[in-house]
Amino acid sequence: MRIAIYPGSFDPITYGHLNVLEIGAEIFDKVIIAISHNYNKKGFLPPEIRKELVEKSVAHLKNVEVDMFEGLTIEYAKKKGANVLLRGLRAVSDFEYEMQLSQTNSALADDIKTVFLMTKPEYAFISSSTVKEIFINNGNISKFVPPPVEQYLTYNKNTINLK
Ligand code: ADP
Repeated sequence: MRIAIYPGSFDPITYGHLNVLEIGAEIFDKVIIAISHNYNKKGFLPPEIRKELVEKSVAHLKNVEVDMFEGLTIEYAKKKGANVLLRGLRAVSDFEYEMQLSQTNSALADDIKTVFLMTKPEYAFISSSTVKEIFINNGNISKFVPPPVEQYLTYNKNTINLK
C-alpha cells in the first residue's frame, strides 16, 4: 500500500493545495493531509479550524485523510507507515527551499521519498499568504479557495485576528 503524507500549514487551504492533492489521490492508495501546528507560532487561523476547512474541502476524495501533527514531519511519516512525502511546486522560487527540505528528510530517513507535483497552471500562482492579503483588504477570494474557506472567512471576518 502506497501511503503519502502531504504536510503543510494549509493556513488556509487553497485551490493550489487541492489540485496537488487531487493528483496525489489518483497516484497513491492513501494520502494523509498533515497539518503542521506549533502552539508557540501563531498562524492566521487556529489549527483546529484549518483542519475543519480542509476536511470540508476534501470530502469528495475517498482515499484522503486529514490529521494534525507537531514536530518533525519525517517522524510523523514513519509513525503513519508512509513511503512518500508529497509536496507541491509552484515556481523556481519554491525549488531551493523544497530541495533542501527533501534532502534533509532523505538524510533522516532514506526509505521515505519526497515526490513533487505541479498544479494546473491556473492554480500555480496561488498561495495562502496572498489569499490572506486579499481577504484582509476586502478583495474577492472565491477564485483562490474552496467554498468552505470563503464561507468561513466571510462569516467570521469580525472575529478573525487580521494582524
Ligand atoms: P508550508 O508552510 O509547509 O510550505 P503550505 O501550506 O504553504 O505549507 O504548502 C504546503 C505544500 O503545498 C508545499 O509543498 C507548497 O509548495 C505546496 N503548494 C502551496 N500552494 C501551491 C500551489 N498553488 N501550487 C502548487 N503547490 C502548492
